[in-house]
Amino acid sequence: MSNLNYLSGLGPIWPPGLMPPGLSYMPDTQRTLVLLKPDALQRDLLGEIIRRFELKGLKIVALKFIRLSDEMLTEHYSHLADKPFFASLKQFMMQTPVVGIVLEGIDCVESVRKIVGATNPRSADAGTIRADFSMNVPSNLIHASDSVENAVTEVKRFFKEDELFSYEKITDRFQFGEGI
Ligand code: UDP
Ligand code: MG
Repeated sequence: MSNLNYLSGLGPIWPPGLMPPGLSYMPDTQRTLVLLKPDALQRDLLGEIIRRFELKGLKIVALKFIRLSDEMLTEHYSHLADKPFFASLKQFMMQTPVVGIVLEGIDCVESVRKIVGATNPRSADAGTIRADFSMNVPSNLIHASDSVENAVTEVKRFFKEDELFSYEKITDRFQFGEGI
């Protein structure tokens, strides 16, 4: 199956005629990038965090370890380049490999940000990953793309096209179809 339609961040997953049985219309299917930070690895929270996304009904379409470089982080966190914590943030993110994940679902960029919670874990809503398991920045466990446009850029930044997988699940009709 072609993945090309994903790259716009919008639009149907499956080309006309190749849609799985039971799926008639997938209005706002998106992909978003998640990075599980070094504190998630050190604190044995990788499985717990991934499980939350699985339980929500988001589809994991890519997953791998990434050894981040200073160069990659300078690009990824360019909006923070003038902050006093920029260098220490990059050092933190290079302490161990991170787990890169691409999630797919209807409106998933916003859904994932809600599940992740606010940047400062002490201000994050209870029930979010950051509120439930962390206390401080930069060690707030997880990165998630903050807009549909940034999600497209960030998925491309960390994943090659052939590392992204389209596949059918028997639950697709509940999570991508009309829910019956
Ligand atoms: N960060 C930090 N100190 C701050 C703000 C942010 O160390 O005062 C770190 C924190 O790990 C955060 C990351 O920089 O997750 C990226 O910041 P951003 O504002 O993009 O927040 P996010 O999108 O991760 O919620
Ligand atoms: Mg951000």
